[in-house]
Amino acid sequence: MRKPFVAGNWKMHGSKASILNLVTGLNSMAGELDGVDVAVCPPSLYIDFTKRTLSTPAIVIGAQNMAEEPYQGAFTGEGSAVMLKDLGCDYVILGHSERRAIYGETDSEIANKVQVALKSGITPILCVGETLDERESGVMESVISAQLDAVLDVVGIAAFNFVVIAYEPVWAIGTGVTASPAQAQEVHAFIRGKLAKLDASVAEKVVIQYGGSVKPGNAKELFGQPDIDGGLIGGASLDADDFIAICKAAGV
Ligand code: PEP
Repeated sequence: MRKPFVAGNWKMHGSKASILNLVTGLNSMAGELDGVDVAVCPPSLYIDFTKRTLSTPAIVIGAQNMAEEPYQGAFTGEGSAVMLKDLGCDYVILGHSERRAIYGETDSEIANKVQVALKSGITPILCVGETLDERESGVMESVISAQLDAVLDVVGIAAFNFVVIAYEPVWAIGTGVTASPAQAQEVHAFIRGKLAKLDASVAEKVVIQYGGSVKPGNAKELFGQPDIDGGLIGGASLDADDFIAICKAAGV
């Protein structure tokens, strides 16, 4: 039985004042969370502030990206896995479509980062997903397969005991257009089935989140699908009431 997991990706949003307000709301409602693991992923500049402001063990911290270099060095502007660990991060989002599209991150870089995160004791949330063009031209499964294969080639299937996958159709991220529960379930089942061909027990246990315009109004139906184990939430994670409602929809 997989425990659902919901993570909030705050992207490049927030200030000390707005984060204090958001986290105060999360702290006050954290007692309502049951049967769901929850993380928030602030901008790296605010990880420490968020960690200090959170007063509940029910919500842990993640980062939105990290360097391929695990420790330190002459990499201006970067932050390493060891630094994230030092700040108390349990998770790191890797391969988000914005990193792939805007910053040109390749499958191979993402695979290396997954390996570094695992070696550093940080759970990667590995994002995969197709663009609308790829879906409409019938190459959705091969795109997602290639994204997964790049990581499998580097870390192997057993490492997926310690990886969270987020299926995020690019066309649904920040657009207000959500994949229908059936569309999302189809891809989640495809991902789990692909991993099952390599190791059925790993596939059965791996948490696969859905991400893409999840809101309180559509969360329950999405999370009710057999292969959807919670969500990676962008816009709605910036509102404490909405985020907690989504987390509760994933829990018991
Ligand atoms: C995301 O950025 O990972 C995401 C799913 O965003 P949104 O929920 O705003 O679509």
